[in-house]
Amino acid sequence: MDFQLSAQQREFQQAARRFAQEELVEVAKACERTSEPVPDAVRQRMGELGFLGINIPQTYGGVGAGKVDALIVLEELAKVSAAVAFPVFEANCGPAQTLLYFAPEWLKQRVLPKVCSGEMMVSVSMSEPDVGTAMTELKTRAVIKGDRIVINGVKRWCSGAGHAQGYVLYCRLADKPGAAGVGAVYLEKGTPGLSFGKPEQFMGARGFHNAEIYLDNVEVPVENIVVPAGGVKDLMRSFNMERLGNSTCALGIAASALEVALAYTQERQQFGKPLVDFQAVQLRLAEMKIDVEAARLLIHRAAQGAEDGLPSLLDTSVAKCFANEAVRRVVTHGVQVMGAYGYSSDYPMEQKMRDAWLWGIGGGHIDLQKVNIAGELVGRRFSQR
Ligand SMILES: Cc1cc2nc3c(=O)[nH]c(=O)nc-3n(C[C@H](O)[C@H](O)[C@H](O)COP(=O)(O)OP(=O)(O)OC[C@H]3O[C@@H](n4cnc5c(N)ncnc54)[C@H](O)[C@@H]3O)c2cc1C
Repeated sequence: MDFQLSAQQREFQQAARRFAQEELVEVAKACERTSEPVPDAVRQRMGELGFLGINIPQTYGGVGAGKVDALIVLEELAKVSAAVAFPVFEANCGPAQTLLYFAPEWLKQRVLPKVCSGEMMVSVSMSEPDVGTAMTELKTRAVIKGDRIVINGVKRWCSGAGHAQGYVLYCRLADKPGAAGVGAVYLEKGTPGLSFGKPEQFMGARGFHNAEIYLDNVEVPVENIVVPAGGVKDLMRSFNMERLGNSTCALGIAASALEVALAYTQERQQFGKPLVDFQAVQLRLAEMKIDVEAARLLIHRAAQGAEDGLPSLLDTSVAKCFANEAVRRVVTHGVQVMGAYGYSSDYPMEQKMRDAWLWGIGGGHIDLQKVNIAGELVGRRFSQR
């Protein structure tokens, strides 16, 4: 057991920190102000630096490093903002990983090198207007007709919708109820019949370009099936990596909230002394630090434990729950120790407060993670029906 970063991991961390601080701060402000995603040119710069394929094998254009390495890079970008971290999240943790583990070889060769270079981004579309947590009840229907698939339905809350070039679309691929009918298909923007709604306005996470997707007799070849009907287990296994990415974004926000609070409380004076000299402030800072460190250890343990495979449900759920709840506690302390300056949108803590809330809702909310943890503890799945 080694709790120190390797020399290579320290290099990744320093390179990502430098890039994030020098090149992404203004980009993040623009995403926040306009709700527009990271521009394509910035994503391509991330690709040039290797940040979009840290844990994708070199054969597909990636760096071929490990999952922890990828999460170390992601944390540094998430410290600046969730919006600028999003392309790195999608490539190293999200749907690109589902393609890496489960897509047919031709599809991996077609898509992954372009993801790594930043030429394209792939989003994941699971949720529907009536389907959130109960993912096995998806209504979007993909009917196989000879060598073609015809897809009809409406998807909701897809981050990157209309902006991303590729989509891993969860849908009903066989006329069977529940999980037995659910699989995933790969689609590209520009396919006839595929269109997008206008971007949602969220409390935070501005710049995710989150929108509905409309599928009106969208046709793709059967070779575009990523996971066939009945393959929900595989989809969920690769989704564990997405959950560690989600947890790491929460961690990055928490770690940066601590940095901001530390600097502020040493500078701001009341009663003739810095805020940090008040014991109540010290206790809040200490609690923030404990949450940040514990979240990081749990996330890295889950990623490290996966080795060459995918992270386990138990380790992932423990890490995600903790990080998702920790970031909410941390930013709450952050706002409090900064007083009105914490609450004002002219100062950085207010955005962190809003961005912090997402992670315990998306990617499998915290309540479901706890149900998963209990299930793993007793060795069985609890039916939610
Ligand atoms: C900013 C943002 C980005 C997103 N990006 C994407 C994306 O890219 N792709 C995508 O497909 N989706 C995305 N989503 C949607 C997200 O995955 C869903 O919001 C999430 O799955 C929860 O579904 P729901 O919101 O419909 O909540 P519901 O399923 O309606 O649940 C609401 C609440 O009820 C409780 N609850 C429900 N079921 C259970 C249960 N079985 N056990 C215990 N408690 C339960 C929980 O407290 C839960 O928070 C995004 C959402 C947001 C906010």
